[in-house]
Amino acid sequence: MDRFSLSEQATLKSHFFIRSIDALGSDSLLLSRESARRETVQAGPCLHIIVPTLQCAHSCQYCQVSRSLTDSHHVMSDECLYKACESIFQSEAKALTVEFQGGDPLLRFDMVQAAVLYIKKINLSHHKNIRFVNRPDFYRYFVASEKYCCS
Ligand code: SF4
Repeated sequence: MDRFSLSEQATLKSHFFIRSIDALGSDSLLLSRESARRETVQAGPCLHIIVPTLQCAHSCQYCQVSRSLTDSHHVMSDECLYKACESIFQSEAKALTVEFQGGDPLLRFDMVQAAVLYIKKINLSHHKNIRFVNRPDFYRYFVASEKYCCS
């Protein structure tokens, strides 16, 4: 350990390559991270991502997926949406996270709603613990919240 500078040690510790001998909770934290790393293998895939559309009102430089609002070929068909919902239940995991991404998934909020309702319906016979997450275009929310706060 002495061969590393304090800064290097801090970097290695923060990435869990080495652990602090005297830091409280270090062992538990490492065990927890190790367990999380194996979770997919032991419990089955728990994160499922549905992309209703690649369309987005923005064109961030780093974004590799967004398509213009006028584009018509990058929206999921209803058939694909329902198949995607059904495939989620192939996982053995008892707790699932279903995340809606895009593009901006809320441009097709109708599809997000349809997927949530369909997944809940299927889950009546599976009894899994399901969490829904949206990854929208936050710009619209900043504008909306700014308008709301200023009104
Ligand atoms: S807001 Fe998100 S989806 Fe839209 S262009 Fe930017 S990174 Fe891509």
